[in-house]
Amino acid sequence: MIYHERVKPPPHIYPPDEWNLIEKNFHPPFMEMTETIFAIGNGYVGMRGCVEEGVPAVHNGTFVNGFYESWPIVYGEEAYGFARTGQTIVNVTDSKKIKLYVDDEPLYLPNANLLNYDRRLNMKSATLDRAILWETPSGKQVLIKSRRLVSFPHRHLAAMSYEVTLLNAEAPVVLSSEMLYLHDHHKGNGDPRQAKGFIDRALHPRKQSVKDRRIVLCHATKNSNMTLACGMDHDLVTDCPHTFQSKCYEDFGAVVFSIEAKPGVPILLLKYMTYHTTHTASPEGLSARAERALDRALGQGFTRILADQEQYMADFWQRSDIQVSNLDPTRTKRSNIEIQQAIRFNLFHILQASGRADTTGVPAKGLTGQAYEGQYFWDTEIYLLPFLIYTSPRIAKNLLMFRYRMLDQARKRARDLNQKGAMFPWRTINGEEASAYYAAGTAQYHINADIMYALRKYVHATGDETFLNEYGAEMLIETARLWSDLGFFSEDKKGKFCIHGVTGPDEYNTVVNNNTYTNLMARENLLYAASTIETLREQKPVVFAALASKTGVEMEEVQEWRRAAENMYIPYDEERGIHPQDDAFLEKELWDLKNTPTENFPLLLFYHPLVIYRYQVIKQADIVLAMFLFGQAFSPEQKKRNFDYYDPLTTGDSSLSSCIQSIVASEIGYPDMAVEYARAALLMDLADVGGNVRDGCHIASMGGTWMVMVYGMAGMRDFDGTLTFKPRRLPDQQPKIRFPLTYRGQILDVEMGPEGARYSLREGDGLMIRHEDEEIHLSSEAPIAIRPIVTWQPS
Ligand code: BGC
Repeated sequence: MIYHERVKPPPHIYPPDEWNLIEKNFHPPFMEMTETIFAIGNGYVGMRGCVEEGVPAVHNGTFVNGFYESWPIVYGEEAYGFARTGQTIVNVTDSKKIKLYVDDEPLYLPNANLLNYDRRLNMKSATLDRAILWETPSGKQVLIKSRRLVSFPHRHLAAMSYEVTLLNAEAPVVLSSEMLYLHDHHKGNGDPRQAKGFIDRALHPRKQSVKDRRIVLCHATKNSNMTLACGMDHDLVTDCPHTFQSKCYEDFGAVVFSIEAKPGVPILLLKYMTYHTTHTASPEGLSARAERALDRALGQGFTRILADQEQYMADFWQRSDIQVSNLDPTRTKRSNIEIQQAIRFNLFHILQASGRADTTGVPAKGLTGQAYEGQYFWDTEIYLLPFLIYTSPRIAKNLLMFRYRMLDQARKRARDLNQKGAMFPWRTINGEEASAYYAAGTAQYHINADIMYALRKYVHATGDETFLNEYGAEMLIETARLWSDLGFFSEDKKGKFCIHGVTGPDEYNTVVNNNTYTNLMARENLLYAASTIETLREQKPVVFAALASKTGVEMEEVQEWRRAAENMYIPYDEERGIHPQDDAFLEKELWDLKNTPTENFPLLLFYHPLVIYRYQVIKQADIVLAMFLFGQAFSPEQKKRNFDYYDPLTTGDSSLSSCIQSIVASEIGYPDMAVEYARAALLMDLADVGGNVRDGCHIASMGGTWMVMVYGMAGMRDFDGTLTFKPRRLPDQQPKIRFPLTYRGQILDVEMGPEGARYSLREGDGLMIRHEDEEIHLSSEAPIAIRPIVTWQPS
């Protein structure tokens, strides 16, 4: 149910455009939002969308994925096994600033007389472009065109072009290109989602160098012992006479160009920026790396760097784009373009969060903000990986590999919790558990199974058995061991296998017994582990032998996993015909959501956890998520009854909810609700549905928008690894949606339109899919199949 205004997206403020997100006026009140919305990044480096001049800024930010400072978590009351080390992504050296002075007048947007202003996030070229016409107080007109990018092909590189032309006069022009590490101690405002501010500076100077138009600053953190080198270099292209001066201090560097500008003669400043980090190399070694990256960038030049970026993006979109038309029932052209724009905006930001993450995870806010400390959660596996698996399987593999690399820490963490096997951290950057509030953190054991669920989807969709055998199997063994050790066969529940003292996805009901979602997930984890190990033993004895010697796995314990899975207790309330969220949930008092004032949402900011935990009130989809992920485990009637029961109790206080509610609503025949929730998910950031977009994009919800289109609108399911489609549409509507899926190295184009469902094999030579209950075999000889779409009767 959508209860409060917050979840009802207002119209978004950006003019409709299919490929650009455009801002037509400089409007300071929107700045805190647009710094997030217009952020650019490549999954390794991210820069918030602050103005080129550096000021004004609400929260300027530059982040390098995985570059963090750690700090001891101090508890008022200690207990055994609590997480010890907090980790926070560092707001690092800002290198993108270019200040402009004409006749010594600084360009300062709030005071400037802007005759024209256009800023756009160009999603085709992955650039942030700005064109402004500024009239100085003395009447000189200055045209400024700038473009900045964080390169996808060149992971460590960002670049800017900044062109100034005086249109009607001559004048002395100064361009000051700067870099600065600023210790920004922002105090918390009581919102637990925001990052902890460092009281002391997080970065300490280690080395500076300046030569010609190049500056490299090197800093290091104290506790996490990481080093960062940030460098910049320049090229000035103009027929106007000019000179330059460079200077640098510990935290600041500037290359200042002084130019005698002539009317109509452009002054083009090209700026190259690079970021490198290390745990091991010396500041000298790291600076040398930065210098080499700058040499290469200068050698290539901006035009080539831009062309490479465009090529990368063309490739991304042809694998990943979702094209829509006629989706809005009001059918105005404008609103349909807005939907298209919003879809691309979401997909684009996922790429910006993950594209070159390479050896790290994806922070909950990507690299657009510091909230949630820049840490990695289950968001990646459950919300992002479906999109990545079916469009960029290489990125998906990197992310799973990242989990594999933390397996030893996860083993150790399981020991801390007195358990066998491995326990992945609920939130982390460096692999160690960083959640200080265990009830809504560490207790979310489901993270283990979430990762294995994503592994299974990845292996099914790619056929990458090598990854499964070399890395996946070991993770499966250790996670299965954990479940098997954590749960027990309960006499009270007729010998069924129960899992007690865990928290499910819904953080408003914590440390519960038999959370249905967790039990279903654990069952899947155990079964997948058992079947993988059994198959390996039969079919790949050498691989099996190596695995057995590494992990000590024995077939008796595999049988134990099966016994636990087959006897898994799945709560069910016969009387109501629904699945209780956990053993105690239905006994609790109902929270009166209808009479809760709008301003008291999200509840977590206004009520003590104990108050919340006492009620039937839900932060985010839990049973409803289980019904999506394990659709085959619920009958259609159960799905409807569960949804009818749980949806009215769901606050939507987490952005991870609306997308899932939309998908399940479409499956069970609530099209109006499906559309309403889809809108909330799609506009989560653009219309600031959660009221906190200033803190960063909601990356999980962004992944959820892809799921809404593919699993919701096109009715795709992939439980057993076969792509199955059950699309539905309303009698009087003619929406069209088209998207590609990469499946086992082939590309399938799916289109749902007025003429029905059209499946066409773009690349590859053979693929079996299902439409409703029919098997369809596509091949290079018969690459296309068209089938009718079932019509819903309005609810
Ligand atoms: C949600 C979690 C999520 C986290 C990071 C929390 O508010 O409850 O499920 O992992 O945000 O996005």
